[in-house]
Amino acid sequence: MKNFSEKSQLKNLPPHLPVMIIGGGIAGAGVFRDLSLHNIPCALIDIKDFTSQTSQSSSKMLHGGIRYLENLDFALVWEALHEKNLWLKLTPHLAYPEKFYLPVYKSSLRPLWMVRMGLLLYDALSSFQNLPHEVASVEKTLDRFPTLKKVGLTGSGVYSDAVVDDAKLTLECIYDGMVSKNSYACNHTSLVNCIKKGSGYLVTLKDELTGEQRDIACDHLIFTTGPFTDNLLKRLDLFPWIPKLMLSRGSHLWFKNDMLKAKGPMVLTPKDGRVIFVIPQKDKTLVGTTEVPGDASFDQMPSDAEVNYLLDNLKDFFPQSDISEDHILGKFAGVRPLVKEDPNATLGKVARDHKVYQPEENIFILLGGKYTTFRIMAQDVVRPLLHKMKMAYRDDLTLRPLRRESHVLPWKDFSLTKELIEKILVDEFPKTEEDLIYRRLGFNSEKEYNQMKKQIDNLNLNLPWS
Ligand SMILES: Cc1cc2nc3c(=O)[nH]c(=O)nc-3n(C[C@H](O)[C@H](O)[C@H](O)COP(=O)(O)OP(=O)(O)OC[C@H]3O[C@@H](n4cnc5c(N)ncnc54)[C@H](O)[C@@H]3O)c2cc1C
Repeated sequence: MKNFSEKSQLKNLPPHLPVMIIGGGIAGAGVFRDLSLHNIPCALIDIKDFTSQTSQSSSKMLHGGIRYLENLDFALVWEALHEKNLWLKLTPHLAYPEKFYLPVYKSSLRPLWMVRMGLLLYDALSSFQNLPHEVASVEKTLDRFPTLKKVGLTGSGVYSDAVVDDAKLTLECIYDGMVSKNSYACNHTSLVNCIKKGSGYLVTLKDELTGEQRDIACDHLIFTTGPFTDNLLKRLDLFPWIPKLMLSRGSHLWFKNDMLKAKGPMVLTPKDGRVIFVIPQKDKTLVGTTEVPGDASFDQMPSDAEVNYLLDNLKDFFPQSDISEDHILGKFAGVRPLVKEDPNATLGKVARDHKVYQPEENIFILLGGKYTTFRIMAQDVVRPLLHKMKMAYRDDLTLRPLRRESHVLPWKDFSLTKELIEKILVDEFPKTEEDLIYRRLGFNSEKEYNQMKKQIDNLNLNLPWS
């Protein structure tokens, strides 16, 4: 098959495949890439565009999760820090290291000396691969955040994590997998039905844009449907399934950099004990997140209460800024697919690690985890699957750099031309205007989106959706 656009069409899938992966967020992309690198013929499908749900709605950090130190979750932090530092090396065009300031006040729950000890532990858990932590004076903190509340400020703890383009990393993992000969990835394709056939399954897939349906036989099914998993498995009724998910919504807002004038990322610690990240990226600043009970609906948006929570805290920490709802450039929300194995766990305390379930010999269900640890999550499915197929798992394969870069890279300027859009259509297979503008071109705030739409309209292109 000549190009990725062809490999993304339902009509071009072979009638039988050893593995079908349902759900193309970062979890599915990681599994697809790993299987493809092992040359296992497989297909990845998603009912919407790839990475259009939780995996484009994160806080856009590769991180160890400094606050999980409080839950004494050292193994998770160690693993995530090593993965963060690996991806910084493998994809320097999609992620970069940053120093995060954590301002400490006289009224803060933890004084500066305690914060310093936590940061030392954080660096140690990274095997000292992190940029080293430091403690910044009040003057240095205010130099970096000139509009930050001064009263009671005692300084800042400074540690390093990474900023990532979450949507692009998921997409590039998929492109990497598609380089392998027998790997297919169909966006806007849903799993409508599934029945057992012999030792495998017959799945009915539907192209959500054309309505076309096809039955494909497959030997193994892998569910990487994140927050949508309990609902989907209940509907399919393929095997008995006790719901496992505790859904927790988190929302973010985009502002122009000149609203808060932050010269780098910071972590605010509001009175409710949560944390809010303020992360400038090129000309915009990302602020989030919240943590409220969520549901498994698609295309989530922040509630008014979440927007007000973030605005109120910004007003509290940046009293000199006259920040208000009018200054919001864009907003988004996602739902954390947390696995609740302990019936007493609460939203803030439920474990963030991932789980693999195998309700039948040929079905794997991957749930939970963090964006940062997706490679390890995928290994925990692919390793036993290959073992079952009597094949050796090769640890070196997923340590290789990705084989295809996006045509438009994050944080880099580009000129919008007819040729560029044509290349994107062939190599990155957007199938709707939103796929193109939001995820392939990377315009993720509503105001920028509308400007980009006008520029594309002016090119008078013959787009598949127009
Ligand atoms: C607010 C927030 C902030 C976060 N910040 C960070 C962070 O900074 N760093 C970090 O490491 N982690 C972070 N996380 C966690 C991380 O984003 C998630 O763990 C991860 O994105 C989940 O990916 P997933 O692939 O499991 O789910 P999803 O990305 O939701 O993918 C599931 C896919 O399944 C598809 N699907 C559903 N039903 C069907 C069907 N019937 N047929 C076909 N496809 C279907 C959906 O369309 C979807 O694309 C954050 C999470 C949230 C919510």
